Amino acid sequence: MELAIFGGKPVFSETQPVGLPLVENDTIERYHRLLDKVFQVNFLTNDGPLLRRLEEALSERFRVKQAVVVTNATLAQMLIMRAEGINSGRVIIPTNTFISTAHVCEWVGAVPVFADIDPLTLNLDPLEIRRLAVPDLVAVMPTHVFGVMANLPTIIEEAKKLKLRVICDAAHAFDCDAGGSGPGGCGVPEFLSFHATKFFSTFEGGAILTNDPDLAREMRELRNFGFAGIDDVSALGINAKMTEAAAAFGLASLPALEARRERLRLVHAAYQQSLAGIQGVRLHDFSQGKNNHRYFPIFIEDSFGASRDAVCQALWQENILVRRYFYPGCHRMRYYARKTPGGPIPLPQADKVLGKILCLPTSFAELPDLEGVKRLSDCLARLQKAAPAVEKYWREYSGEVNLENTEESH
Ligand SMILES: *Cc1c(COP(=O)(O)O)cnc(C)c1O
Repeated sequence: MELAIFGGKPVFSETQPVGLPLVENDTIERYHRLLDKVFQVNFLTNDGPLLRRLEEALSERFRVKQAVVVTNATLAQMLIMRAEGINSGRVIIPTNTFISTAHVCEWVGAVPVFADIDPLTLNLDPLEIRRLAVPDLVAVMPTHVFGVMANLPTIIEEAKKLKLRVICDAAHAFDCDAGGSGPGGCGVPEFLSFHATKFFSTFEGGAILTNDPDLAREMRELRNFGFAGIDDVSALGINAKMTEAAAAFGLASLPALEARRERLRLVHAAYQQSLAGIQGVRLHDFSQGKNNHRYFPIFIEDSFGASRDAVCQALWQENILVRRYFYPGCHRMRYYARKTPGGPIPLPQADKVLGKILCLPTSFAELPDLEGVKRLSDCLARLQKAAPAVEKYWREYSGEVNLENTEESH
């Protein structure tokens, strides 16, 4: 079979994004029934009954005292930071995270300080806290990248020595854990994302998990403009209220999650088997604890014979829209890079590993999932066999990855 970059027919006839929503037929049926109820009750938003039910279900699921549900994880992070009084100073975040983790620091008046990562877990390296310590440091904010839990016990210990707050971006970590401890399990506030591409979705949405009832109450006020009573505004709030329609979708999805996780686990297992023999393809280590298997990153090592970007370009031509999460790292994103005189400060581990990473789809649009895995893996094997030509094509004909016109996720 000829590779698409050399004129062959693409492996997939339609574009195959990485972040396809995961929605089962029975989830849709339950959702429709719940929506009917929303209209019967005629309660559309503002602390509605379905929002409360979702909050209860989540606090039980994550074994925390409080789950505060909001419109997205970006606002969830903002509400925690405001409620914790973080409005100046510096906040350590790993460079390998979604850009919102950094942006929110600036939105509340703080400055993100980008830290290097452990190349094996892809998470914040706890030793970075000491290296980056400055007097106006106020918080450290790790991310559980791809649901592999950051080393929170060590991070919390280091943070304590410097009197820093710890807040955790658990956007990827729904139903993930390490040694039995999942989001919310270490006693620091953590926030989840329910964006359409995530393991658990409410179209858009997010939640904060905390055991602190005062913090939860404050965040519930903040999400509703700061109202503490009918005519009493106690704080500079914002509108971060989840609608009943979104909460209904969340409630409808909950009963499907075990089966969803199992489906994705089989995809992971199939990839692990079919990619094992391909020279230069290294797999990510998910053996730490429970994972939701939403993401399947691989690393294109030098021995593959073609660069990661050449492989990325070739796969896009096959209609496989693999992604380089979170390349090039927040510290190299133009908005932040230009703030550093002389350009971004290198973070050697992140710079290296983010030059190799590719995230593969874990669910497929036009095929049964395991058939999709097989086609993609066969294609990667063919790319490896043709590696010198793939690299040459990329250098001569395009020179940079053209990731325009993405229909990456919906
Ligand atoms: C998706 C994501 C976010 C942002 O979530 P939203 O709900 O879209 O605001 C933050 N951090 C990480 C690591 C994410 O993957």
